[in-house]
Amino acid sequence: MHNAALSRLGLDSWCYQRLPVPPQLFEQTVRALAMCGFAGANVTIPHKHAALLVCDEPSRAAREIGAANTLTFHPDGSIAAENTDAPGLLAAYGRSPSGITALVLGAGGSARAVAWALARAGAGEVSVWNRTPERARRLAGDLGVRAVSAPVPADLLVNCTSVGLERGAGVPAEAAQRSEVERSATEDRALNQLSLTFDQVGEYSDVIDLVYRPGSTPLLAAARAHGARTVDGLEVLVAQGALSLQLWTGRPAPIEVMRRAARQAV
Ligand code: NAP
Repeated sequence: MHNAALSRLGLDSWCYQRLPVPPQLFEQTVRALAMCGFAGANVTIPHKHAALLVCDEPSRAAREIGAANTLTFHPDGSIAAENTDAPGLLAAYGRSPSGITALVLGAGGSARAVAWALARAGAGEVSVWNRTPERARRLAGDLGVRAVSAPVPADLLVNCTSVGLERGAGVPAEAAQRSEVERSATEDRALNQLSLTFDQVGEYSDVIDLVYRPGSTPLLAAARAHGARTVDGLEVLVAQGALSLQLWTGRPAPIEVMRRAARQAV
């Protein structure tokens, strides 16, 4: 999606490339990239905390979340760190979370960004449930939100776990429209890992699943069967990617071009 966007912007000498980096080489790789002409980098698991440590200027969001997913290399040699997962989630949600109640599932890096984004954007109450309760309690203490021992009803549900990603868990897009498919054994297993039943999913009017995969995730299939408004992980990916691209190029991102490229790739 980034290369499609760079091409649309006429930045033909730019390219976005994937670079696997072992943790022990993270810092020296980042410093080398900064010195040899790269404009910036997206950073993913397991480097999001290290990205914060290597930078000279962390944004307030990156600092408070405790993780960065975007590094920008400035001409003076300094490195800025930003977290575009947080505003990307809000952009993909597409409405103001002011006053709403939200339940975040998970307590990893993306859950921290999502809980922070919703709380700072004025959500009335943000609850966090995680398979390992201690991590949810730590997140809640760090970010000033509420840890819960079981999923609670809310206006918005955001899945920030990797449940739904595993092989065999996907629901074909066309099948996801038919209610009988959402009650399959596979779907129940995935929902149960989130401590939810099919009927409970109906308690949320908006459901966002950060997991992106071909077709639908079991959670989104269940949410659609209940008539909820849904946002899939690819939409969130595109939104955070567009914000990163804007930081590097200083130009508005051609988001429709990015969306089309991402959907074609997946
Ligand atoms: P992470 O830091 O590794 O956290 C993983 C989370 O998933 C933890 O809360 C973990 O719970 C939970 N989990 C894993 N397996 C589980 C299971 N079988 N049952 C219940 N909970 C389980 O990962 P992350 O960076 O937050 O990413 C989470 C997911 O979001 C990934 O699928 C990633 O691809 C996706 N993501 C998407 C975007 C996007 O733009 N769409 C952005 C970021 C991440 P424990 O603490 O109990 O281990």
